[in-house]
Amino acid sequence: MAYEFDLFVIGAGSGGVRAARFAAGFGAKVAVAESRYLGGTCVNVGCVPKKLLVYGAHFAEDFEQASGFGWSLGEANFDWATLIANKDREIHRLNGIYRNLLVNSGVTLMEGHAKITGPHEVEVNGQRHTAKHILIATGGWPQIPEIPGHEHAISSNEAFFLKELPKRVLVVGGGYIAVEFAGIFHGLGAKTSLLYRGEMFLRGFDGAVRKHLHEELTKRGMDVQFNADIARIDKQPDGSLKATLKDGRELMADCVFYATGRRPMLDNLGLENTGVKLDKRGFVEVDELYQSAEPSILAIGDVIGRVQLTPVALAEGMAVARRLFKPEQYRAVDYKMIPTAVFSLPNIGTVGLSEEQAIEDGHKVQIFESSFRPMKLTLTECQERTLMKLVVDADTDKVLGCHMVGPEAGEIVQGLAIALKAGATKQHFDETIGVHPTAAEEFVTMRTPVNR
Ligand code: FAD
Ligand code: NDP
Repeated sequence: MAYEFDLFVIGAGSGGVRAARFAAGFGAKVAVAESRYLGGTCVNVGCVPKKLLVYGAHFAEDFEQASGFGWSLGEANFDWATLIANKDREIHRLNGIYRNLLVNSGVTLMEGHAKITGPHEVEVNGQRHTAKHILIATGGWPQIPEIPGHEHAISSNEAFFLKELPKRVLVVGGGYIAVEFAGIFHGLGAKTSLLYRGEMFLRGFDGAVRKHLHEELTKRGMDVQFNADIARIDKQPDGSLKATLKDGRELMADCVFYATGRRPMLDNLGLENTGVKLDKRGFVEVDELYQSAEPSILAIGDVIGRVQLTPVALAEGMAVARRLFKPEQYRAVDYKMIPTAVFSLPNIGTVGLSEEQAIEDGHKVQIFESSFRPMKLTLTECQERTLMKLVVDADTDKVLGCHMVGPEAGEIVQGLAIALKAGATKQHFDETIGVHPTAAEEFVTMRTPVNR
């Protein structure tokens, strides 16, 4: 049968745009439907605006530390409306770049909600289109538990567009978004409490990293509460919010921000018209080639719930485009050694196994760890410490994991990820000459293993 398109991509986010552009570049006839915003979550309500707000929050400590270097400043004032307006302008510029990228690569862009009406058919704005392959790249959506009063809470989607910086914020959750936004609100001057339901936030990260970040956030004056979970939220006559915790305590705030994970975005997608199956957590189930239970339908990115990071969605999009239209260039995505950063203040950068994971996987581990006051802070009052940690396999000398909490940890760990990917041993690290004076050189000068 002749189809109108070779590939119909639903969602112009990180994964969808990458797949569409490369598929078109390989000569395929490609359409993309986007219902909300070009560039998807990352560009509009994710990585990019988040990082801009983190930069904004960082100035607070820069101003504070400047006096140690002889600078005297007038009273620093922060204007939330300016930051948001400038952020919006930049996002608008990026939306235009995404539009050009798609159009210039020959992709047909359809702006509207896409509904799958059959294994080879998609409806957008009342028009039906046929395609040999359909790619679901619809991403995810914030999930707020339905406690009484949950309608008074906001998610990251709304936080980027708040009219004013709230004076008192309760941030709920203990993952990437909660920790990053707690740092943003706190850095910009809001009285911020981070409430996590468990014993220690950032489950899955190295234990030393979690503990170190907790200490640093507390030193900065953020109120971090573990074993704290909200049972109900009540709006008060003056517009403020009263959060009653499960242990009966009451906390007052102007904003309750939930970052309790993201669900796959499948709303009105028409999966009932297909054989696509969902996994136990509700994400689209795909095989190693991103093919769903319906042979003509594939899925990538956050909607498959594997690793919810932009570079992973990009790699998956590229893999799909190559497999379908340039099979001789196909390479499977390698999910090992994915570096990642949490843009908390201070940052976390990490690649490879945590000490706990390495032990669980049966490695005999050697741990190298260093905690120090960065040189930049020696002329200031700031007592912040940087943590660096290497997890090494004691039998093979291979470095299994690198972890850091400190300024620019994300920048530093990207280079280390290449070394780990190439199979670097601790001896390779030891034989590498440091760049002096940097914090990063500590990664090649740790000589004595920690006695556990
Ligand atoms: P998305 O980028 O979400 O794109 C999906 C697109 O599909 C959206 O544009 C949506 O409107 C569209 N769509 C959905 N349904 C339909 C439909 N039926 N018809 C038409 N269009 C539809 N990752 C990092 O690597 N680094 C970070 O620093 C980082 N920070 C983040 C901060 C926040 C606050 C959030 C929420 C996420 C962050 N992420 C970060 C994660 C990253 O944004 C996602 O992993 C990434 O965007 C996933 O890409 P995707 O293509 O799967 O989906
Ligand atoms: P995460 O899955 O990272 O964290 C969710 C947090 O919410 C966990 O601490 C979890 O606790 C807690 N939680 C879940 N359900 C409830 C509940 N009902 N009540 C109270 N707490 C709850 O999700 P995020 O929303 O933070 O981020 C989504 C994903 O987006 C991330 O996993 C990451 O992949 C991506 N992202 C990446 C960023 C980056 O690269 N810098 C930045 C932001 C997002 P528990 O651990 O106990 O389950």
